Amino acid sequence: MTDGAHAATGPGRTPREVATHCPYCALQCGMTLREEPDRVTVLPRRFPTNRGGLCQKGWTAAELLDHPERLTTPLLRDPTGGGLRPASWDAALDRIVTGLRAVQEGHGRDAVAVFGGGGLTNEKAYALGRFARVALRTKHIDYNGRFCMSSAAAAGTRAFGIDRGLPFPLADLGRADTLLLVGANPAETMPPLVRWLTEQRERGGRLIVVDPRVTATARLADLHLQPLPGTDLAVANALLHIALTEGWIDREYVADRTTGFEAVRRSVAGWWPARAEALSGVPVADLEATARALGTAGRVIILTARGAEQHAKGVDTVTGFVNLALALGLPGRPGSGYGCLTGQGNGQGGREHGQKADQLPGYRRIDDPAAREHVAGVWGVPAEDLPGPGVPAYELLESLGTPAGPKALLVFGSNPVVSAPRAARIEGRLRDLDLLVVADFLLSETAALADVVLPTAQWAEEDGTMTNLEGRVLRRRALRTPPPGVRTDLEILADLTARLRGGAGDSDASDPRVVFAELRRASAGGTADYAGVSWERIDAHDGVFWPCPAEDAPDTPRLFADRFATPDGRARFHAVEHRPAAEEVCAEYPLHFTTGRVLAQYQSGTQTRRVAALRRAAPDAFVELHPDLAGRLGIGDGEPVRVVSRRGELRAPARLSTAIRPDTVFAPFHWGGAARANSVTNDAVDPVSGMPEFKICAVRLERVDAP
Ligand code: SF4
Repeated sequence: MTDGAHAATGPGRTPREVATHCPYCALQCGMTLREEPDRVTVLPRRFPTNRGGLCQKGWTAAELLDHPERLTTPLLRDPTGGGLRPASWDAALDRIVTGLRAVQEGHGRDAVAVFGGGGLTNEKAYALGRFARVALRTKHIDYNGRFCMSSAAAAGTRAFGIDRGLPFPLADLGRADTLLLVGANPAETMPPLVRWLTEQRERGGRLIVVDPRVTATARLADLHLQPLPGTDLAVANALLHIALTEGWIDREYVADRTTGFEAVRRSVAGWWPARAEALSGVPVADLEATARALGTAGRVIILTARGAEQHAKGVDTVTGFVNLALALGLPGRPGSGYGCLTGQGNGQGGREHGQKADQLPGYRRIDDPAAREHVAGVWGVPAEDLPGPGVPAYELLESLGTPAGPKALLVFGSNPVVSAPRAARIEGRLRDLDLLVVADFLLSETAALADVVLPTAQWAEEDGTMTNLEGRVLRRRALRTPPPGVRTDLEILADLTARLRGGAGDSDASDPRVVFAELRRASAGGTADYAGVSWERIDAHDGVFWPCPAEDAPDTPRLFADRFATPDGRARFHAVEHRPAAEEVCAEYPLHFTTGRVLAQYQSGTQTRRVAALRRAAPDAFVELHPDLAGRLGIGDGEPVRVVSRRGELRAPARLSTAIRPDTVFAPFHWGGAARANSVTNDAVDPVSGMPEFKICAVRLERVDAP
């Protein structure tokens, strides 16, 4: 029986139960799965982050296990130009290996690329990086986390020397006197987190939300700042300007624990509140009230999320809020700090163990000679055989099928046809490949384009670990084995590795416990050190916080108490200046366009759009616009509209709402086809993180029946 599983007692058949976590977002709510005779049910489980709470997505997650659209056999594209046809595993794997060899023999090792996902377990993310570097020996691997958390990751690394989304347990939110959420909408994206906001307010704390829309989270706030999209950095600099003017800076902390403040002090001197108001639309009085709430409270937490991060200046925008937090002396102070609300299920662990273009396991840099030696030693290969850094996700996708780009791509746990910016272009690039392989358990929009589709196991059918938004390593536990015809991602990688080497399969290579043991060795001594994290230790506690360098060493729920992870132990300020969005409004495209999520859907919607209850709750895409704008354009509620940018258009019904600014339109990004929001979005990327600018571009809006 799987660890953590048990058979419930009672008359007759005893249903099997297992304690695990939700398959979706980074909150990784604890849940219990019970196998009934005819279905799997989800039961609440008390866990420190969700305390028994789940959102609609979690409650309905098991519906996909026996879904009629579930893939249970490999699919091969008919070479005569037809569609996808069922095939044996041998035929599918042979087709892949033959194709990979042909591409690499014709165009070199880097002509093959691998694309991963932030929902893969730590073991899979690790194995995928090893597969790319050792079995394929390509430099080209990256993942969809570039589209989610990479700007906060880069900002955290350059300021603190480490990137852990929350450097403190989530429960600290409930005790904050002031909590500032920037571009975060947890009331819709991770509803059980709201209990911490409720607790915070019941204790007399103040909640301030910065968001261009009046979201469900903004409605909970004591104060809502509603800036123009793309102006958060101006708001951050103005808040620091006010704190300086009012004398709320923690001078002792700045002197003892940081470097670089003087340049930041000079740079924010020009961000007087009226200037920020003129740019962002946030009234001076609100800026002043926010600065006061931050500068005069005892325990203060500042959190950013995708609204601040998904910009071509996302790293600098996050840095603006990090500067503010450092100037107020928050990071490392008990009950205070800065953090990022990670989005994808394993958004944290998925960015630590080697599926990023520039990274080796343990958050090591692939261009660091010592890191290469260490990891190559674990992998049993010469360090000089490891490829160098590849390129970030969008650059990689954009190069596919071009003369200089990869000709073959393997995709695990991702659906870039829906999730990539300027998605029509990426769809075209995928069509240009000689070989596209997609491993998934449903026929996503990307899988539908593939030459080979490999059916994979679901979360309740395999063991592994995930690392939640707090940096807490958790156990995902299997309730049952995969259905006949389905293999796990680890089995697929082991099978492909064996065939590429012309040898037999190695069952250890597909055993998640064995892979995790190797991950621990590979990460040992790295920034994200898992050496002391065993599955038994996770089971004995409510997870283990990294870094944890030895089994007899304590784990690290709170970072930065004494020092930061920089060579001199000090956090680093960086002066950052507001700059316009990559694309500004003009006469032809006079409106701002921004994207986001709805409660009942998740990411590209491959899974949640197929769950009946979620489909009922959020059946279709929509375009949200202000009634004033609708009146000017002659658009009625529910009428089909077209959002047009320089890159493409989306069509969906209009949804009139005063929750949005009259100069901005919004669409959720969970749908493909004609309603695909990413047909419109801009592919400008942040120069440091490679994060695309999903949150703002210039569009025009028109009725579908307009000429
Ligand atoms: S908040 Fe996230 S982890 Fe929790 S149930 Fe919902 S989707 Fe799952």
